[in-house]
Amino acid sequence: MTAHRIDWEGLAGALAGIECSRDPGRLAAASRDYYFYSPILAEVLDGRVGELLVRPRDEAEVVRVAAACARFRVPLTIRGGGTGNYGQCVPLEGGVILDITGLDRVLAVGAGSVLCEAGILIAALERAVRAHGQALLMYPSTRDIATIGGFIAGGYAGVGSIRHGILKDPGNVRLIRVVTVEEVPRVIELRGADIQKVHHAFGTNGIITRLELALAPAVDWLHQILLFPDYRRALEFGVAASRPDLDSFLLTTVERRFARFYGVLGERFPADRDAVFAMVNPAHLDAWRALAARFGGVETLCLDDAGIRAAQLPPAFECAYNHTTLMALRHERSFTYLQIAYPMPFDPALVLRQMERYGDELHFHHEFARQFGEYAVFALPLVAYFDRERVYEIIAEFEADGCLVFDPHVYTIEDGGMKTIDTAQIEFKRVADPHGLMNPGKTRGWNAAMARA
Ligand SMILES: Cc1cc2nc3c(=O)[nH]c(=O)nc-3n(C[C@H](O)[C@H](O)[C@H](O)COP(=O)(O)OP(=O)(O)OC[C@H]3O[C@@H](n4cnc5c(N)ncnc54)[C@H](O)[C@@H]3O)c2cc1C
Repeated sequence: MTAHRIDWEGLAGALAGIECSRDPGRLAAASRDYYFYSPILAEVLDGRVGELLVRPRDEAEVVRVAAACARFRVPLTIRGGGTGNYGQCVPLEGGVILDITGLDRVLAVGAGSVLCEAGILIAALERAVRAHGQALLMYPSTRDIATIGGFIAGGYAGVGSIRHGILKDPGNVRLIRVVTVEEVPRVIELRGADIQKVHHAFGTNGIITRLELALAPAVDWLHQILLFPDYRRALEFGVAASRPDLDSFLLTTVERRFARFYGVLGERFPADRDAVFAMVNPAHLDAWRALAARFGGVETLCLDDAGIRAAQLPPAFECAYNHTTLMALRHERSFTYLQIAYPMPFDPALVLRQMERYGDELHFHHEFARQFGEYAVFALPLVAYFDRERVYEIIAEFEADGCLVFDPHVYTIEDGGMKTIDTAQIEFKRVADPHGLMNPGKTRGWNAAMARA
């Protein structure tokens, strides 16, 4: 909680007419995200709650909330869908939780781009652009419950990254518009390289109200499951299928020990085979199937969106990325996970050595993607949790293998994936959040002494 006494009455007056709630149940729910994936984070974040939930409906109301928080020096934490994994929207110092989901309009769909408000659910945005024959370049596997602003402020890559790279890659995000948290807030628009000042800053340096994103012509992707006789061949297929002339939107390998968590798929993913989950362009299906067959791949599912829905099966992307961990946690809460980037060129033999090393302690799953113009391979292995010390021993071993570990057991930007303080983001925080009120505690690049009095 904040050190000074907050004038809640004054704040309420300044927010008159904007939807607010102090209901303890709503506040508790709005103060959590998916940090429960990490028992280490749960220990430090459980019980941290905001004191006032505010839900503006448009940018003008966001400006009023920002002005009031600045005037009364109230910490301000923005919440979209609340699906982040690192406690990104847990209000460490209490204060106001700004629920951004009221800003949910699509403002313009042009040829190759969309302008929208930041609180729209990604699934709704995708539906809107598909009505124009276009599609988003990428989305997290939480597409149906996460907001686009939350993805840009807290996410990294996702479904579609094998085709279009990561969020950070130039051109994918074209405009970020933010409201500053000052007594008289300003609206600032960032384009080109300046976008990186706010992307993945966890809502610490400006309230994103609008975004312009690049689009691609829509493809009716086929959701496919392939089974392989062993995980090595599934990985080798992943490497071979990472080619621009074989068009896919998702390419995920999941080893057989996950099969018991994917019961809904029945014999489509039995416990004696390793699986590939893919989204494939129908125009490239024959070549894709022929390549899979060379590695012993056998198809057990191939349906378009409508077919998947009619069969009441999960889309391929809900069997991938961090949904694999979620599926496991629904069965057994004792697991946790790691996020790894492999050294390139990717060598499946390294994974086989790691599987040997860890036995039943780790279950493996890999994502084939692209970043900075090159192919990349990520893993989100499931870890049978023993204790903190053991998790960090495993991390050190992956690092010794040449892997980069994005630590999902910490809540600051720098301790997780970024490793160093992004000075451009901190400089922009001086501009957009001069009193240091936004999502306090989430960046190590800021300290109380930097705040304007
Ligand atoms: C099952 C599962 C699968 C996932 N898969 C992926 C994946 O494939 N790729 C990936 O990158 N992530 C993934 N994630 C993490 C997360 O779901 C995504 O990053 C998601 O897009 C976050 O959106 P959200 O609306 O839930 O954001 P929230 O969790 O609400 O917020 C995330 C961060 O952004 C800030 N924020 C939110 N809105 C704004 C705004 N308007 N202005 C400024 N700051 C803001 C918040 O304060 C917080 O720090 C996954 C998580 C789960 C649980």
